[in-house]
Amino acid sequence: MDNQVLVLNQNYEPLNVTNARRAVTLLYLGKAIVVEKDSQVFHSPTVSFEMPSVVRLAYYVKRPTPQLKLTRRSIIARDGQRCQYCGRRAKTVTIDHVIPRDRRGRTDWKNLVCACIKCNNKKGNRTPQEAGMTLIRRPFRPRYVPYISFSKFVAAFRNKRWVDYLAPFAQGLDIQEYC
Ligand SMILES: [Zn+2]
Repeated sequence: MDNQVLVLNQNYEPLNVTNARRAVTLLYLGKAIVVEKDSQVFHSPTVSFEMPSVVRLAYYVKRPTPQLKLTRRSIIARDGQRCQYCGRRAKTVTIDHVIPRDRRGRTDWKNLVCACIKCNNKKGNRTPQEAGMTLIRRPFRPRYVPYISFSKFVAAFRNKRWVDYLAPFAQGLDIQEYC
């Protein structure tokens, strides 16, 4: 029962990613309905049922929209762990200020990118232009409904069954990048 389940609000907004046990409890209590099933069937001595992959709450849950936080993890999630200079996916990435801090480069979505160690060392404390390097795409502030943390939201794209439910809330993100 350790499968992950995507929980949608009554209006189909992605609300949470939870474990199957919690999702089954919601279903059992009549608080949610199954939208998409998993391929697995759960068997126990007393019951057997198809595991849910996506459930939708029976009632609308009103929640304040949280702020999208700028964190190391969210920058890595936005860039798909891909170095924004050489384009390679690296196991270990650093966060680079495109315009260096001591040149008044800001610590924001538009000036922070993922960079592999090699490119970061090569660039040093210079602008990309000075270092003769170019960004593979312009850094941006993601636009989406952030009930789920941004890194979790991006990770959720890897589940093919969830893509259709998440895509409408992923404006500005290239989903292919994350799948
Ligand atoms: Zn690189």
